[in-house]
Amino acid sequence: MTLQELAKSLHNCQQCKLAKLGRTQVVFGVGNPHASVMFVGEAPGFNEDQKGEPFVGAAGKLLNDLLASAHLSRDQIYIANVIKCRPPNNRDPESDEVETCKPFLMQQIQMIRPKLVCTLGNWATQTLLERKVGITKVKAQAFYMKDFVIFPLLHPAAALHQGNLLDTLKEDFKKLKEFLDRHSQPPAAAEPSAPSESTLNIEPPNPAQMDLFG
Ligand code: SF4
Repeated sequence: MTLQELAKSLHNCQQCKLAKLGRTQVVFGVGNPHASVMFVGEAPGFNEDQKGEPFVGAAGKLLNDLLASAHLSRDQIYIANVIKCRPPNNRDPESDEVETCKPFLMQQIQMIRPKLVCTLGNWATQTLLERKVGITKVKAQAFYMKDFVIFPLLHPAAALHQGNLLDTLKEDFKKLKEFLDRHSQPPAAAEPSAPSESTLNIEPPNPAQMDLFG
């Protein structure tokens, strides 16, 4: 199955109760299907539900600015959410919804084969790390999984709601850029600070760092 076929198969997904709780449409994900860097958020909000695209509106604009600060653009990356349908009144996703929808995210990751997955906020981070761990404890660090590296970041919406988090988020994107720069091997003709699928080379530094939770 291709990414496009998966998106088509979920077009009218009814597999969890969010299908009947007022969603406008399934928000599958957007971006480069061969991206080496993928971003994963929580769930669509009002604007995303209306447009059918993750991270539009104010949080999307902030994300675009932060991406630019790390020399990344929306064309280079792929963005999806753990949950593909908007929870009513933007409530937190419920565990049965995460359990039902997560396999679709994992299929997206398998098809895109990113080397780095940046999780935005607690939900995406805990879902992919499969640990109940607070985002502030793990943010801006690399976690080496079997097939890719997870780099958790605060959710841009959190910085919009609590202005004091904005500087932290900016700092963390600087650390993301440093990480990308350290692992990018651009061909002579390419922009040194624009990692692409062929240039991002991430190997675990040593086995001891494979499991940072001990
Ligand atoms: S949230 Fe996921 S599992 Fe639930 S209906 Fe939407 S696409 Fe299907």
